[in-house]
Amino acid sequence: MAIIVHKYGGTSMGSPERIKNVARRVAKWHRAGHQMLVVVSAMSGETNRLLALAKEISPNPSPRELDVIASTGEQVSMGLLALALHELGVDAISFNGSQVAVHTDSSHTKARIESIDGERIHSELDAGKVVIVAGFQGRDADGNVTTLGRGGSDTSAVALAVAVGAQECLIFTDVDGVYTTDPRIEPRAARLDAISFEEMLELASLGSKVLQIRSVEFAGKYRMPMRVLSSLTDPDLPVEEEAVSGTLISFEDDPNMEKALVSGIACTRDEAKITLAQVPDTPGVAYKILGPIAEANIDVDMIVQNVSHAGTTDFTFTVAKGDLTRALLVLEKDVVPVVKAKEVATSTEIAKVSCVGIGMRTHANVAARIFNALAKEGINIQMIGTSEIKVSLVIEDKYMELAVRALHQAFGLNKE
Ligand code: ADP
Ligand code: ASP
Ligand code: MG
Repeated sequence: MAIIVHKYGGTSMGSPERIKNVARRVAKWHRAGHQMLVVVSAMSGETNRLLALAKEISPNPSPRELDVIASTGEQVSMGLLALALHELGVDAISFNGSQVAVHTDSSHTKARIESIDGERIHSELDAGKVVIVAGFQGRDADGNVTTLGRGGSDTSAVALAVAVGAQECLIFTDVDGVYTTDPRIEPRAARLDAISFEEMLELASLGSKVLQIRSVEFAGKYRMPMRVLSSLTDPDLPVEEEAVSGTLISFEDDPNMEKALVSGIACTRDEAKITLAQVPDTPGVAYKILGPIAEANIDVDMIVQNVSHAGTTDFTFTVAKGDLTRALLVLEKDVVPVVKAKEVATSTEIAKVSCVGIGMRTHANVAARIFNALAKEGINIQMIGTSEIKVSLVIEDKYMELAVRALHQAFGLNKE
């Protein structure tokens, strides 16, 4: 009997009514003869509520205790879903991350899964039970509770699917698949039946929160078939129909498939920009600036060094908004005294918009088309970053939605 993993996100688990619908859906798959492992998120808004509570008590909370607090949301959901399944006469049992040995490193609030022992899950599945596991959490080598970063239940689901040798991992959410861009920003976005793993990886890393990036990385590394589909449809839809709905993350690279130039557009307001003004334009300066930042475990995304005037230049880079305060402390302490920057300026009012497409590999001029589309809307570009299959732009945040819609249109992505 094949093991199937279902993951239900916050909206899908958002109320007792919705949880009862999830139970009906899971019971249906179970009745159809599958061994069911279900990974759940906290009810929508719950993780935010818990983190806000912590901040009310302490403006600078200990990451270890934050994880203790934030992980409770999923624990409530898993128990509620187990009860809803019992009400339907289905034998179900729930476990938190620690109980099924989801081992992670000790980076609280952004821990990485290192191993999972599937033994307990297997024995419950073999006993005919539906097994429900809390997403987003694990334990480190010392037994501390850890969490996997926002949106981390997607990663729990794929990692658990790999650990138990599941046939497929189905991510049920509040949209019916992966779209050419966030359908909340562009209602004319089109749903994709399939998206290549590489494109999904880029979209996720560039801010499309429909899947957490690490879940896509896991799926790619272990070739775990993965599909994104809606939990808000009729829960009694026939299993065969549901099984092929939504968007498949495809590992096939079909050379005959016509590749869209741009397949999707991602955007994020999660970054902040830091500029060191008038640093000496000499070899080693970039290292002197970014070395201490890297040592502090702060990821840098976009980087621009401007042309020098009279031997000095401006050096600009972006970090996650959540890391800005720490980055500034590092700069003040270890960088500015060494490189003698005239000024350190920051902006949190930026957004990053990115066009992603495998087709870019074989077509030139994508960047020119992007610049043209933004110029027509009078949107100024502050920073540009490119790779083989993406172009990212940093712009003023108030233009983010406008830029997404303009680019969506410029690359012919609007649905009929
Ligand atoms: P869940 O709680 O189920 O994990 P999320 O809110 O994390 O759901 O992710 C689903 C949301 O992702 C959608 O409601 C949608 O607004 C957003 N989203 C962003 N980009 C895309 C995209 N390209 N396709 C589909 N949804 C997207
Ligand atoms: N509940 C967590 C969050 O809100 C994890 C998840 O939903 O995937 O980020
Ligand atoms: Mg999510």
